Amino acid sequence: MIIKPEEITSIIKNEIEKYENRIETVDSGTIIQIGDGIARVYGLEDCMEGELLKFPNGVYGMALNLEQDNVGCVLLGQEEGIREGDVVTRMRKVVEVPVGEALLGRVVNSLGLPIDGKGPINTTATRPIETEAPGVIDRQSVKQPLQTGIKAIDSMIPIGKGQRELIIGDRQTGKTAIVLDTILNQKGKGIICIYVAIGQKQSTVAHIVNTLTEMGAMDYTIVVSATASESAPLQFIAPYAGCSMGEYFMHQGKDVLIVYDDLSKHAVAYRTMSLLLRRPPGREAYPGDVFYIHSRLLERAAKLSAELGGGSLTALPIIETLAGDITAYIPTNVISITDGQIFLESELFYAGQRPAVNAGISVSRVGGSAQIHAMRKLSGTLRIELAQYRELAAFAQFGSDLDKETRKRLEKGKRLVEVLKQDQYKPMPVEKQILILYAAINNYLAEIKVSSIREFEKQFLEYMDTHHRSVASSIAETGKLSEEAEAELKLAIEEFRKIFLSQQ
Ligand code: ATP
Ligand code: MG
Repeated sequence: MIIKPEEITSIIKNEIEKYENRIETVDSGTIIQIGDGIARVYGLEDCMEGELLKFPNGVYGMALNLEQDNVGCVLLGQEEGIREGDVVTRMRKVVEVPVGEALLGRVVNSLGLPIDGKGPINTTATRPIETEAPGVIDRQSVKQPLQTGIKAIDSMIPIGKGQRELIIGDRQTGKTAIVLDTILNQKGKGIICIYVAIGQKQSTVAHIVNTLTEMGAMDYTIVVSATASESAPLQFIAPYAGCSMGEYFMHQGKDVLIVYDDLSKHAVAYRTMSLLLRRPPGREAYPGDVFYIHSRLLERAAKLSAELGGGSLTALPIIETLAGDITAYIPTNVISITDGQIFLESELFYAGQRPAVNAGISVSRVGGSAQIHAMRKLSGTLRIELAQYRELAAFAQFGSDLDKETRKRLEKGKRLVEVLKQDQYKPMPVEKQILILYAAINNYLAEIKVSSIREFEKQFLEYMDTHHRSVASSIAETGKLSEEAEAELKLAIEEFRKIFLSQQ
């Protein structure tokens, strides 16, 4: 081979011309420490906060602690087989989940991957799990009702589309029951529901999915599940993932209902993760930003302005308390973020008042304007009468002689409380709620025995369905109880009361 000097000089010249004084950034690093689902990675220059990282054997991770000489990241999968010195690759995007219609009816994990054994989910669109909440200009006020189908809630603690209403109570007080009924009640109303299960037992989640399937509610529902057996980071990102799936529909102008069951366990998962990442612990060992993880999540609930399509995302977070203590750290945080709360009490639950809603301390700060007119008219009286009843009932315990007026009030109160009881999985359309509440509030039930009230209600609603259907349908159409409808309702109640009493 003959080497021509001109050729070599031209190559060298070429190379010198192309030479730039720039160090190329490498988009991979090496693991310097791994354990407890946390990896410290050296050499990931330019890594973004929340960036997706790929570990060997197909496991993904999320970069969280960007430190001077290393990056602390959490593994979103099993750490088995990953070793010190292994190479970690940057994916150059923050963690995202698939979104779209194909997810409806499916059970997915925090990364949006199917776990229901029904095959792959065909979506092309994705959304980052963390996005900025809509701003002030992008929103409009909450003004349409989101009916839960539960009498005690729709009448006194109404929820509007785009609202954030907290459901709070001790364990086993019917918190999940309320949100499931609310999901069932959205059937045929074009509202998309998302149920995010965080840190629950797998058997509980399976039971919930079965119930939703049996009741035909899975057609419009997505279940995002990060059970107790999943790692803390997966439990931590589950609500954000679910929220992104909901936002996709909201930005299409649709109405979405999202349930976070529950945020107490979410906070615990975040605490675990933060302590392992060696972030400094604060009160109750939670990290300093535990308020912010919930506020930035719940702020994403919104009623969008008409220009943006008018879609909405209504959030129902759940918090579990210990012995009714709502002044603990996480409960107070979430109470201050939400637009109201529904308190459930074990005492009421065990006394047989189910749903165990304590109407005295439960509030909805925006829902009132989102109630239909006919219900709003009843709602004020109902609240006052119940409050008076509770006060009198406390007095009456002393057993002193009561005057006739007081006794009458007590009797009426007992009947109101009875009417507010409702079985699980039996959501009731708002127009039917109005029929029975109207009868109770206007004292038509005085002659009915308290123990027969629920039977009365059942038969009365059937009677109205067969003989006076127009009353309910006019309320459903106009949202109002017109004078004619009211007159017909009064007559119908009296008619039916006679029939019922003669039966007894
Ligand atoms: P956990 O703290 O375990 O999550 P929870 O507060 O979510 O409990 P649920 O699981 O909803 O409570 O309900 C507890 C039990 O009470 C269940 O067995 C449920 O069937 C029953 N229950 C709930 N609501 C009602 C109701 N309205 N009528 C009758 N039973 C009910
Ligand atoms: Mg529950």
